[in-house]
Amino acid sequence: MSDHERNGQSLDVAIIGSGPSAFYAAESLLETQPHARVTMYERLPVPFGLVRFGVAPDHPKLKSPTMIFDRVAQHPNFRFIGNVTVGRDLSVEQILDNHHAAIFAYGAEAERRLGISGETLLGSHTATEFVGWYNGHPDFRTRYFDLSHSDVAIIGQGNVAADVARILLSPVEALAKTDIARHAVEALRGSQVRTVHIIGRRGPAQAKFTTQELRELGELPDTQLVMLESDLVLNPESQTELADRKNFIAAKNVELFRKWASAPANGGSRKLVFHFLQSPAQLLGGTRVEGLLLERNSLTGPPFAQQAQPDGSSEVIPCGLAFRSIGYRGVGLPGLPFDTKRCVVPNDAGRVQGLPGAYTTGWIKRGPSGIIGTNRACAVETVATLVADLSLEIHPVKDGAAATMALLAARGVRTVSYLDWKRIDEAEIRLGSSVGKPREKLTSIPAMLEVLRAVA
Ligand code: NAP
Repeated sequence: MSDHERNGQSLDVAIIGSGPSAFYAAESLLETQPHARVTMYERLPVPFGLVRFGVAPDHPKLKSPTMIFDRVAQHPNFRFIGNVTVGRDLSVEQILDNHHAAIFAYGAEAERRLGISGETLLGSHTATEFVGWYNGHPDFRTRYFDLSHSDVAIIGQGNVAADVARILLSPVEALAKTDIARHAVEALRGSQVRTVHIIGRRGPAQAKFTTQELRELGELPDTQLVMLESDLVLNPESQTELADRKNFIAAKNVELFRKWASAPANGGSRKLVFHFLQSPAQLLGGTRVEGLLLERNSLTGPPFAQQAQPDGSSEVIPCGLAFRSIGYRGVGLPGLPFDTKRCVVPNDAGRVQGLPGAYTTGWIKRGPSGIIGTNRACAVETVATLVADLSLEIHPVKDGAAATMALLAARGVRTVSYLDWKRIDEAEIRLGSSVGKPREKLTSIPAMLEVLRAVA
């Protein structure tokens, strides 16, 4: 029995963020600490972070963890406070003053830059913007993507690049039956995109796709897959990498690439072109993107640490739209330590360095890697660290959400409860059912709050 339980005292924990890592941390706390009270603070009026705004709309199964999150939210000691920006409406200090501990789980949603010339031309975007746009994120709903061009370049060969390629090449009528944002379906209906180039600076053995996501690219209707067979001849270091059993995903990927490269052309009217061993050197054009200069690379270095080195040759691919899909980047929060080099909150097994009572989990703890499930083990580790630390001392009583709600009320913040979210959820499902979609997302904060005003 911990000191808190002995004293009949609750353990008040704030969680900042409401994506998978935040909910897995809440689950772990509430399952293992009967006296824990969890208050989850979320910037938007709606929960679930990247499960709602990152997972592609044609991947509904990947959204199934929301059923677990919903169960967690029903726990009597759980409270959701949405529409609150920590760092603006509430400071990190105020959060820590009013809880025994705070777990920062706000993800890594910012863009990364390539640092090449032409990156700011019209038609040059991050995949993050496009994903946010088609998923109805309020921050990206008004973005414009000029889909009147036949050729699009995607820089990077990870699962986000695969999502972007699939959305650009999928039949719109199939997408229209998903929970994709209405504005995205309307824009995609007029799309002239016929060829998508997906560009990796290293070879096929180093592509970051998981096999299921890669396989789906081969299942796109009416789409030819194109790649140079010579790129699939691997150097000895890459062969050593593939021989390692732990690297089975890469081995499966290369198997798929080889199968596709040797298959006869299927005559599809659209093309997905895999470019390997090519680095973006410059986005070309006057005011808007007209092409991408690629430098050819060879690989140097030992297995699992091979780097792309330019070999002196280059080529230009014409394209009117370019997406940088080279990973996400975490950003700091005022009052919270931040490692500007690694773009994470510096921590030891989840304990934030230099700020007692602060913990972290998910992408802002370890960087933007792994699938949704990876966040469960990550959150369990953080909660174990937190519980071990807090069980060592007796703590003063904290007022938790009662105190922060008073601070928010004084600032005039319209907070959103989990019950409120369920009303927004119902409204979205109702709107969707009238147009044959699982939900029609409300894509602006005023529209979300309007639902609550209507039922108040
Ligand atoms: P990612 O998997 O890290 O892939 C980033 C890609 O960008 C890599 O090909 C990388 O090449 C390349 N890259 C990085 N810097 C570059 C540069 N300066 N120039 C050229 N290329 C560069 O990132 P992600 O696709 O954004 O995905 C983030 C995480 O979310 C991953 O763990 C992913 O699996 C996960 N996710 C999962 C799903 C799903 O399960 N369906 C869907 C979406 C995302 P190098 O390898 O050479 O660095």
